Amino acid sequence: MRIVLSLVFVLLFSCKGAKSLVAEVHSYPLPVDTTTRPIQQQDHKTYVFGGLSATNDFPAARLNKFLQENDSTYIARIWPENFPINPSPWFAFKLWSETEREIYVKLDYSNGAKHRYTPKLSTDGARWSQLDSTLLQLNQDSTSATIRLNVGKDTLWVAAQEIQDHKRVGTWVDEMAQSPVVQNSIAGKSAFGRDLYHLNIFKGTDYNKRPTVLIISRQHPPEVTGFLCMKAFVETLVEEGASNGFLEKYRVMVYPLMNPDGVDLGHYRHNTGGVDLNRDWAEYHQPEVRQVANHMVRETTLAKNDVVLGLDFHSTFNDVYYTPDSSVARKIPEFTKAWLEKIRVATGLEDINESPGKISRPTSSGWYNQQFGATGITYEIGDKTPREFIKKKGVESARAMMELLLKE
Ligand SMILES: [Zn+2]
Repeated sequence: MRIVLSLVFVLLFSCKGAKSLVAEVHSYPLPVDTTTRPIQQQDHKTYVFGGLSATNDFPAARLNKFLQENDSTYIARIWPENFPINPSPWFAFKLWSETEREIYVKLDYSNGAKHRYTPKLSTDGARWSQLDSTLLQLNQDSTSATIRLNVGKDTLWVAAQEIQDHKRVGTWVDEMAQSPVVQNSIAGKSAFGRDLYHLNIFKGTDYNKRPTVLIISRQHPPEVTGFLCMKAFVETLVEEGASNGFLEKYRVMVYPLMNPDGVDLGHYRHNTGGVDLNRDWAEYHQPEVRQVANHMVRETTLAKNDVVLGLDFHSTFNDVYYTPDSSVARKIPEFTKAWLEKIRVATGLEDINESPGKISRPTSSGWYNQQFGATGITYEIGDKTPREFIKKKGVESARAMMELLLKE
């Protein structure tokens, strides 16, 4: 029976005119080789020097070596998963001491990377504060940063950004799924077997034949600020879209954690295939991109959804929007300008910082256009953007998008 059904299925979808249920292979002006490369994994261990302990034995940690330099100074070696790599040196470790004391920890990147993230501190891994800038001293070429810390019996978490590991994102996904307009499921598994979370958001009995918005986040593990904006964005869609008519007209599909292995292994940028996932949207060599791309195509094809917009949340040095320029044909060409202007006004900004361009490399935003003819936008939040402002931007961006798309 199963064979017969499979045959019928194959016949149905292989006849002329039927749409493929897998993502197409695409070519780009500037292709990138994304075949799997080896990575170097950290030894997970706890270092003890006298009464002082340091560990990387937890998800999202990065501490490649911990050494003592003198009575009060320690060296934390921070190395990437492989080379070459975009230098975004993520670090995360825990410290504790038998006696209350002040220590210096030298964050030593020693691999060409320059210090990027202002350390965040926590005593519970959930509530974070930023290290005071007077307690951080950069060396001459910024390849190391020495920080002054008070340590005691209680564990002190030190991390490049607030930790949002696979488990914490899963808790958020479960909370979102409490809403009647959200269904959660798994779009696939990462190379190391972690769930690729998926949220299907709509109101009504079904989502067939609806225009659809696709959202992804965290292709790059340290990019927590982009993730925080995506969270506020999706929460607003769920809360307000359920009553303003948006979720009765549209379907929204969210993949909030594209690179769960990289996140839990404390990577600078790559997955466990040693590859930048946001260059793999051509031939899908990496399982994370392949499964999410196929999930998007299969789901939207079977439900006859018209994908009009795709967003991808990231972080970089400043807030910026990478948008398609006027040479890129797309279904809702007027949307981008109007959307960014609405966000600018609602958040009180003088300049929204849009960076329009052609499709060049195999990134998700180019792929949204190549695969669906949709508008693809890379939504970047600065590493240091104040967290309250990130939230406001996420909320206002969702409101502005709903208002504009409801007029389409
Ligand atoms: Zn990124």
